[in-house]
Amino acid sequence: MKYLIGNLKMNLLSPDDVRQYLTVLERETRGHLLEGVEYVLCPASIHFGLMQGKMPSPIKLGGQDMFWEKEGSYTGEISPIMLKQYGAEYVILGHSERRLYFGETNDIVRRKIDMALKQMLRPIVCIGETSDERSAGKTGAVIEEAIRSIFDGFSRMQAEKIIIAYEPRWAIGTDTTPETADIMEVKILIRRVLSQMFDLKTADRVPVLYGGSVKQALLPRVCIEAGMDGVLVGRESLFPYEMTKMAEMLSQSGAEEDNKQEE
Ligand code: PEP
Repeated sequence: MKYLIGNLKMNLLSPDDVRQYLTVLERETRGHLLEGVEYVLCPASIHFGLMQGKMPSPIKLGGQDMFWEKEGSYTGEISPIMLKQYGAEYVILGHSERRLYFGETNDIVRRKIDMALKQMLRPIVCIGETSDERSAGKTGAVIEEAIRSIFDGFSRMQAEKIIIAYEPRWAIGTDTTPETADIMEVKILIRRVLSQMFDLKTADRVPVLYGGSVKQALLPRVCIEAGMDGVLVGRESLFPYEMTKMAEMLSQSGAEEDNKQEE
């Protein structure tokens, strides 16, 4: 299975914008089978009412964030139960913009993952180094610490429900991306840490995606050739035509991998 996750962020500013987006999405997705691809769009929470039940097949809905409690006096927050009730199956957690502007720490992210799993929402957890950490050669240490803190205390079954999105912070919204070999190295590190914490089988079952300035032309380099299980797309997710193209490329690469395994 390959994953194509679109983070629509704080875009589509009016109900008309959302309706127009849905019209284009429907037009650009119709007739495309997209086999073997889990295609998920994550709109702003206020758009769930407009989007629920209107997603063209096979696209699913996800949240951009949620709170770590189910309900109560938490002004401005969104409950995981609300997300579920409005059709979400996934939720992005620990996005770098949440960490940068709202002070989210690995500890907070861990609490949110726990609640998401309890509410049967599949967490897509973002991790990645800053450009300073990268220049100081600390990428490996940052990733290892994040993985240990995210997965600590979870069972194998719970761990397999978590999706990791490796998003180097310096690559988000900047139109710069790491080299294929650097992305591969991070994936290998994540697998190694997970197999130490659990076992090889569990490590293999945790999808690891790449995110950061993804677009169609870069997909082979940052995902397919790097052996990633899919991508988390920000700005380009506003363009349904581009997303369908990427979904097709992922579908084809998944089919080729399956064929190779059968040989
Ligand atoms: C993101 O928001 O997760 C992201 C990767 O953004 P962009 O694709 O715009 O860099």
